[in-house]
Amino acid sequence: MDECLFCRIVAGEIPATVVHETDDVLAFRDIAPQAPTHVVVIPKVHHRDAAALASADPALAGRLLAAATDVAESEGLTDGHRLVLNTGSDGGQTVFHVHVHLLGGRPLTWPPG
Ligand code: AMP
Ligand code: ZN
Repeated sequence: MDECLFCRIVAGEIPATVVHETDDVLAFRDIAPQAPTHVVVIPKVHHRDAAALASADPALAGRLLAAATDVAESEGLTDGHRLVLNTGSDGGQTVFHVHVHLLGGRPLTWPPG
């Protein structure tokens, strides 16, 4: 997975502003934030998307969600937040290493565009 952007961030080959790290999860600020708080939460091991992760390692999928919630708390998002897992091209996924977007810090509209 040498060419995977997020694997390269895990390896320290590309810099990122890390806000949370566990043995198997990393969270860093999105380079193009869509809200006052926009953090990307990823498993350190490569899985293509949420479906692949849930199938291969559902316990890790659970830890990924728990980490996203921990970051929401540490970011002070007391009025709520949004977790998004874009999956596949119609889902708007552009980086094919599964990731949770944590968005918050302002009221978010629904549905998205
Ligand atoms: P998605 O479109 O769901 O695959 O989301 C990929 C996200 O990765 C986008 O929100 C990008 O802004 C973000 N992104 C791309 N490159 C970087 C980077 N080097 N550091 C942090 N976030 C990035
Ligand atoms: Zn990867």
